[in-house]
Amino acid sequence: MHSFMAFDPYGGMDMNMKHYIEEAEQELMHTYSRYQIVFDHGDGMYLYDVEGKKYLDFAAGIAVFALGYNCKDYNEALKVQIDKILHTSNLFYTVPAIEAARKFNRISGMDRVFFTSSGTEAIEGAIKLARKYYFKKYGIANSQIISMDHSFHGRSMGALSVTGTSKYREAFEPLIGGVVFAEFNNLDSVKELLQQNTAAIIMEPVQGEGGLYPATKEFIQGVRALCDERDILLILDEIQCGMGRTGTMFAYEQFGIKPDIVTSAKALGCGVPVGAFAAVERVAAAFEPGDHGTTYGGNPFATAAVAKVIELFEQERLLEHVNQVAPYLEEKLDMLAGKHACIVERRGMGFMQGLEFKMPVKDIVPKALDKGLVLISAGANVLRFVPPLIVEKEHIDAMTTVLDQILSE
Ligand SMILES: *Cc1c(COP(=O)(O)O)cnc(C)c1O
Repeated sequence: MHSFMAFDPYGGMDMNMKHYIEEAEQELMHTYSRYQIVFDHGDGMYLYDVEGKKYLDFAAGIAVFALGYNCKDYNEALKVQIDKILHTSNLFYTVPAIEAARKFNRISGMDRVFFTSSGTEAIEGAIKLARKYYFKKYGIANSQIISMDHSFHGRSMGALSVTGTSKYREAFEPLIGGVVFAEFNNLDSVKELLQQNTAAIIMEPVQGEGGLYPATKEFIQGVRALCDERDILLILDEIQCGMGRTGTMFAYEQFGIKPDIVTSAKALGCGVPVGAFAAVERVAAAFEPGDHGTTYGGNPFATAAVAKVIELFEQERLLEHVNQVAPYLEEKLDMLAGKHACIVERRGMGFMQGLEFKMPVKDIVPKALDKGLVLISAGANVLRFVPPLIVEKEHIDAMTTVLDQILSE
């Protein structure tokens, strides 16, 4: 192996994946059980590993790469911004941040936005804003937040505190107090948890990591009505289901409601690490200078990405495309569910779909990877389909054929 490296014109680049993986396992913290692949580059719907093998990708970097890999217009906009300036600080204004804010507020129907560097930080900000709103209104702290079972909102201490999977939380307690969990899609269970000091209800319109569960219309509208009655803030986490994935810019549009605070990330940056939380004016006004901040959040590079992503969504008519092609994905997944007895059901909205199996799916994913198909799971028994939004019927056919083969074996 070392003599091979000596011939490498790139000085140390070794095309042997095993070598890379061994080194990674030595150098990186063991927080992931990674699949045995080292990716090198991507193009459109495809990823390529360091040995040149091509993979059809139905994961999009976990619902991130909406525009597909190596989107030229997007790359160009980033390069232009890199040559201008990557970062100033939030003590000054920059044009990309202003453009991104205007565009984000327009697509979300919110009035003010705060850009972060990740989804988790967007959740942190949303929690802080809700608590500050309550504090300003009643002059006391110690407010309660209702979250949902099986929800996922991130891994920082605050975001973890509202994440509804106890195995993620257990080892890190005490987390932030005043968080209780209701049963998702059960309005009575939310009502039972309401307290005088309930400040906010947080949920994903379509639960992602928790296993691809869409909210029912009655539930989400019922929660909205409860919130309206008591001036409780509805925080909708659209980090995964937002940015066009379900066929509307934000999933809540399809439920005919609007949140008081929305969080976004993942496809918001299409590869550049950026998130956002935004609120209606009445709520956003609770924050005063000094209440919240970030060094990197909303820097000109990240916000140039956001502004370009939103521009390209419109230019490429991505929503139209999702609405045209997503029913075909549903049809194909329903076909698989009908054919293979090991599948319990298909669930999801638009290009955020899941197939629940009777058994763990951890053996299916590596088999798919062997055959050049990237799939991911969501919980033990659910295969998750969150392809780049540019996916075409031919890609869906190719994916279906491979998965059908694996399930037939
Ligand atoms: C991914 C995700 C998060 C966390 O976002 P990060 O960018 O990983 O911090 C929060 N909420 C939902 C719904 C997500 O899917």
